[in-house]
Formats: sequence, C-alpha cells, structure tokens
Amino acid sequence: MNILVINCGSSSLKYQLIDSASEKLLAKGLAERIGIEGSVLTHSAEGKEKLVRQEPMKDHSVAVKMVIEALTDKEYGVINSLSEIGAVGHRVVHGGEKFDRAVKIDDSVIADIEALSSLAPLHNPANLIGIRACAENMPGVPQVAVFDTAFHQTMPKKAYMYGLPYEYYEKYRLRRYGFHGTSHDYVSKRAAEILGKDRKDLKIIVCHLGNGASISAVDHGRCVDTSMGLTPLEGLIMGTRSGDMDPAIFSFICEKEGLTPEQMNQVLNKKSGVLGLSGGLSSDFRDLCDAADNGNELAQMTLDTYAYHVAKYIGGYAMAMQGVDVIAFTAGIGENSYGVRSRVCPYLAWLGAEVEDEKLKIRGEEMIVSKPGSRLTVMIVPTNEELMIARQTMEVLG
Ligand code: AMP
Repeated sequence: MNILVINCGSSSLKYQLIDSASEKLLAKGLAERIGIEGSVLTHSAEGKEKLVRQEPMKDHSVAVKMVIEALTDKEYGVINSLSEIGAVGHRVVHGGEKFDRAVKIDDSVIADIEALSSLAPLHNPANLIGIRACAENMPGVPQVAVFDTAFHQTMPKKAYMYGLPYEYYEKYRLRRYGFHGTSHDYVSKRAAEILGKDRKDLKIIVCHLGNGASISAVDHGRCVDTSMGLTPLEGLIMGTRSGDMDPAIFSFICEKEGLTPEQMNQVLNKKSGVLGLSGGLSSDFRDLCDAADNGNELAQMTLDTYAYHVAKYIGGYAMAMQGVDVIAFTAGIGENSYGVRSRVCPYLAWLGAEVEDEKLKIRGEEMIVSKPGSRLTVMIVPTNEELMIARQTMEVLG
C-alpha cells in the first residue's frame, strides 16, 4: 500500500509517498509559502526530472490538490490516480498524555488534537489544517496521526515532573513531554538492528542533534527520559533555542532590557542557542565549525559549550539507566558534523568508548564508529521519521 506522509506547518507542507511493502520512497516534495506571496511546490521522484511549480496557493487545501496533481502527473508523477494512495500518515507534534501511540483520525481525535493546542500553539493547529485539507481532497482515504510526544509517554513520573506546585500539573498538565519521539523510536530500533540485537536487550542513548536537538534514554525499548520538556525549548543548546537555563534569567532580562514575556520568548526561541552564543555568527554548524577551524575563539567556545552539554546529558542518562550499551548520533548535526562528534566523543572514553577518529569524519551513513572491542558502542544512525510514520500508519490500520 502507498502511504502519503504529511508534515504540515503553518505555511508549509512536506510530503513523502512511501510504498509500505518495500518501504521504498516513491516521491517527495515541499509546498512552501502557503497563503503568502511567492508560493512554490517542489516535487521529486527517483529517475524523474524535478518539478517546480510557482503558483499561488491560497491555503493548504490548494497545496494538497497540487501535491496530488504532482503525484499523478504523467511526466513527473509516480501513480496513476488518487485511488493508489491507501492512507495518509500525519506528523502531529503534541499528543499530551492522551496519546501514547499513533491513532486513526476521526472527529473525536481531531477534537483532542485541538484541545491540546494550548500545549503546542505553533504546531498542533497547523497539523490540523493539514489533516482537514487531506480529508477534503481525499475523501474516504484513512488518516492516521503519529505524535512526536507518544514515544516518550513511557517515562516514569519522576522523570517527567517539574519541581513546581503540583496544582499546575493537575490544572494544566504541566510536565515534561519530550519531542522528536518518532526519531528516537526509529533510531533506537535501527541501532539495535544494525548490531543484530533486540532493542529490548539494550540500554541506548539517542542524540538527535539537528536544528532542534534532544537526547533520550531508551531502556530495553522504552523511553525513560528525554531532554525536551513541556515545549521544545528545554534541554540541549540548539540552533537558535537556549535549552536549559536558570529560570530567573527570564524576568531578569525582561526587566533590564524592557522586554515583554512574548518578546523574551522570541529571544529564547529565535536568538539564543549557538546563534546567540557565537555572537550572532551563525546557527548552522557548518559555519561554526569552519570558523572554529580558522581560529575564531567565539565559535570554538560555542562548540565546546554545546558538546559539554550533550556530554552532561549522556552522563545523566547513563546514571538513570544504570549503564549504557549504545550511543547513537542522528539528525543533521549528529549525522554529519565531525566538529561536534569529535568534541563529544572524548567525554565518552570514561564510559568505555574507544572511537575511530577517521570514522567520525564520514558523513550521513549508518556506521559503528567505536572500535570492535570497545565496551561502549558509538554509532551514527541517520534518522527516517517519515518511514516510521508510514510504518505506524500501517500498524494502526492493521
Ligand atoms: P536538521 O534540523 O536535522 O535538518 O539539522 C540541520 C542542521 O544540521 C543544520 O543547521 C546544520 O547545522 C547541520 N548540518 C547539516 N549538514 C551538515 C554538515 N555537513 N556538517 C555539519 N553540520 C551539518
């Protein structure tokens, strides 16, 4: 069955068409600037020319129509008609405590996703727009919601509670949820497969280091802790997000700089992280690594600080699981950046990791980078959230 995987943002819609039997990617694309001037659809399929359509898309429904047209196009497409799409799998960011696994979408699921919007005001409403646009243009095609938070729902209470008045948890369900769950699930499973082992026999720490970054502890197949919290702002230092900090800094800066809470949120989400720490140099690790290699001290300090925080989380999770067998790096930075991996790995020696430096330089490939006799296995496992969404969609539909 062909599964259309959709990741919908407020003005964008990313898609992949995946054949669930062979798990082959048939086509993929991106509709951008939906509802704003300069809308464009970029579509590609293996062995075919790339299609770029610069046409107005007044809303997501028009975008979905154009995606279907591209997929069924005689020249650029990969299927003959809409009837060859068996199901749609949607990435939904926040499933709250309600959803600990993927579900088939119906009216009550839509109402629940809507109700959870207060926990993810930037994401859940956009995800719902995508769900509604698909329902409108693909009537009768089953749709499944796959939640970013679901994999982390196995965390014990001691890992997800904050040291705040308990009434906030009772009133608002204020707690750690974690994100990137689909990626942590995929990478931990794939790491075990590559090692020829069952995930249920391993203690794995997954380092999802992308523009947004999170770490999780996967103990015998179950997530027991993760670094993102109520929102994706907590945890590691990221591209432009601060990650962990003293909460008193919030009001301190508001007062000193005359910022509103809204403006301060912008600072923490868009102007902080490695971008802020490097004095505005870049949020892209390629630029930071180049600058550091050329002797830029701020860039070197930024990368050292970033790596130190990653290492501290790894240490904490090794303690939480009372041991660790595998560390798996994934996402844009985890899969590609020698500058970051070579700064994190020396810390792992204490846990018994012996790493081959030459292997750390290879980019974007599944690979074991620790030496054969190493007590701790260190690996690179490129993530594939879309494939995981397609698999879970199939599982839900039986
Ligand atoms: P993601 O959010 O997973 O797409 O990751 C995006 C980030 O990965 C970018 O901001 C870059 O900093 C980083 N990245 C991508 N390719 C490379 C590379 N070849 N070397 C270093 N960093 C990279």
